[in-house]
Amino acid sequence: MQAKIAIIGGSGLYKMAGAKVVSEVDIPTPFGMPSDVISIVEINGTKVAFLPRHGKGHRLLPTEVPSRANIWALKSLGVEQIISVSAVGSLAEEYKPGDFVVCDQIIDRTRSRANSYFGEGIVGHVSFAAPFCDTIRAKSIEVLEKSGHPFHKSGKLITMEGPLFSTKGESRMYRSWGAHIIGMTALPECKLAREAEICFSVIAMVTDYDCWRESEEHVTIEMVIKVMNDNTAQIQKIVPGIVDALSGTGDCDCRHAAQYAVMTDKSMIPYETRRKLKLFYGKYWD
Ligand SMILES: [Zn+2]
Repeated sequence: MQAKIAIIGGSGLYKMAGAKVVSEVDIPTPFGMPSDVISIVEINGTKVAFLPRHGKGHRLLPTEVPSRANIWALKSLGVEQIISVSAVGSLAEEYKPGDFVVCDQIIDRTRSRANSYFGEGIVGHVSFAAPFCDTIRAKSIEVLEKSGHPFHKSGKLITMEGPLFSTKGESRMYRSWGAHIIGMTALPECKLAREAEICFSVIAMVTDYDCWRESEEHVTIEMVIKVMNDNTAQIQKIVPGIVDALSGTGDCDCRHAAQYAVMTDKSMIPYETRRKLKLFYGKYWD
């Protein structure tokens, strides 16, 4: 069963409501098992792979999400474009709870995650200056504009390790860096997708104002969960439009990102490493 488009669901998004599940696939990878079985769902006639990042029932910490296995498994299904959905906190007054953000930049503050497919005898460096796919970003913006849902066409996202939220000191430091929103999961997913030559874009959904903001209103966990549930309901209405808009988009630079990346002499790459990465780079090696 093949799918060219995938959705990775974050906190709150564990399935696509209303989409018919065509099949469910368990995909062992050279990097272990993915977060969960991958559902192949049908959205307006298009087969789409859906993977809940934290597993059904939300069992995996951000640090524990097996991103290398997730991206490898999606690639093995023939996925060329990933729409990643993430709940985030806001670091900027104008990014309000309930707003969606089509991120354009990312800052890595993770520290305990395998964030590359390279290593173990193969050295590669892939360009990451523009971390998100411009094609998916443009189509997402088009669809969000039509939807009327409040959103931002750009945003600088911090990915922190977690699972604890930031201190006030950290939150204020991130603001001084010009960051707009903060989450725990877009990395290393986004880096790995680039190495695997898959187009990747994040739609972030703001749930709260992190902890930097001095305000009279007292934010409760109930309020945060209500915003998260509303966001989830909204994104399920918007994603099908993005899937439609992406069907038929042509080739993209993301899908050639690693063409000149590998520095290691081909004859020196260990057999086992070649075997694991053949899915991505076999086309350059054969
Ligand atoms: Zn792309």
